[in-house]
Amino acid sequence: MEEVNQSFFWIKSEGEKKLATENLVPGNQVYKEKLIIKKGIEYRLWDPFRSKLAASIMNELKEFPFENKTKVLYLGASTGTTVSHISDIVGPSGIVFSVEHASRVARDFLDRVASLRTNIIPILQDARKPKEYFSVFGKVDVIYVDIAQPDQTKIAIDNCHLFLKKGGYFFLVIKTRSIDVTKSPKKIIEEEVAKLKTNFDILQLIDLHPYDKDHAMVIAKYRG
Ligand code: SAM
Repeated sequence: MEEVNQSFFWIKSEGEKKLATENLVPGNQVYKEKLIIKKGIEYRLWDPFRSKLAASIMNELKEFPFENKTKVLYLGASTGTTVSHISDIVGPSGIVFSVEHASRVARDFLDRVASLRTNIIPILQDARKPKEYFSVFGKVDVIYVDIAQPDQTKIAIDNCHLFLKKGGYFFLVIKTRSIDVTKSPKKIIEEEVAKLKTNFDILQLIDLHPYDKDHAMVIAKYRG
């Protein structure tokens, strides 16, 4: 096993090096991912076909600001696939405020993920109304947005103004097809990135092929 940093690991499984995080809840699987024990420590394989953050790492993500103790605001938690790996990484002293508005997936997220992990604070709210997240305290180090809404960039920026510390990192998943089906993905990405220029320095744009064909990841730093 090769240790990259304390955040994620490369573990040999079925003859290949695979991405993994150290399981914060040993014995527990979130999405039937494989659990592997090495030297008494349990790891969960992190599937880049299921998580766009893992796909970004596979596709040469340069800066990885999630580490022990990081405070994260995550919009679009869904059933918690990616949130669970971030929860592994930030550890018991970190926090993942996780916003999800659809009650059906949120129930699944609560039962199977948030209730088992003390560092996840579930917020069953609409990301369009960040002033109504009463449980978020202080500013966070990273905001991660994956909500697949036509106005997602505006929603994301509003959340950053309220909760992201200056110099904090911003990850935005751009669903190139949901914004406007008539435009090319390249044009959609350019237009969304242009909206960020006032408050952010763009660090990297990542095409998520072959793991995900309909999304790109934008990584930026908040100037305030
Ligand atoms: N990020 C997840 C992962 O990697 O495991 C997948 C997210 S899924 C593509 C998008 C999620 O955003 C859905 O669960 C949807 O209900 C949620 N969502 C969409 N609009 C939202 C909003 N305005 N407020 C909160 N959640 C929203």
